[in-house]
Amino acid sequence: MAERIAGPEIERLIQLLARLPGLGPRSARRAALHLLRKREELLGPLADAMQVAREKIVVCSACGNIDSCDPCTLCRDERRNPKLLVVVETVADLWALERAKAVSARYHVLGGTLSPLDGIGPKDLNLVNLPERVASGQIEEVILAVNATVDGQTTAHYITELLNHLPVRITRLAHGVPVGGELDYLDEGTLAAAMRSRTDF
Ligand code: ZN
Repeated sequence: MAERIAGPEIERLIQLLARLPGLGPRSARRAALHLLRKREELLGPLADAMQVAREKIVVCSACGNIDSCDPCTLCRDERRNPKLLVVVETVADLWALERAKAVSARYHVLGGTLSPLDGIGPKDLNLVNLPERVASGQIEEVILAVNATVDGQTTAHYITELLNHLPVRITRLAHGVPVGGELDYLDEGTLAAAMRSRTDF
């Protein structure tokens, strides 16, 4: 344990910052110092924003996204293609797809993946209302944008079974060569998947 170099209030701030993803103890100290130096411009507004977030943040009852309103901003957005529904594991995945402007669609956030080894079953995920949601809307295609992991693929298979009585197309993300990737550096699994998912040129 590092020696204390500040009072308990500042040490607590550093300890809390160090729990943020991507921030170790060193960067947490640097961030804390920066915040303390910029008390008026940064620390105050940040504390206020955190307080508001703490009070206002809700889980969207339609899709499982996190927002300050329910239904969430994405579910309310009329410009999105109502025929496409993208199933993701986490809100982080949803944000990643939105950042990439990958698709104009609505989302369904599972909140994790099925994992028999960890005792995570369908009831632990946001799966129960999925068939009803797909059946009741104008949805024509369900895109399974889950991770290319064993649990992600198990979950994708489960969802396919869950929806197979409905007249919707079910697709999944392609597995293969990353943009800018060199074949020589790819692992065998990725390379084999890329060969299987080849498309017309
Ligand atoms: Zn929503």
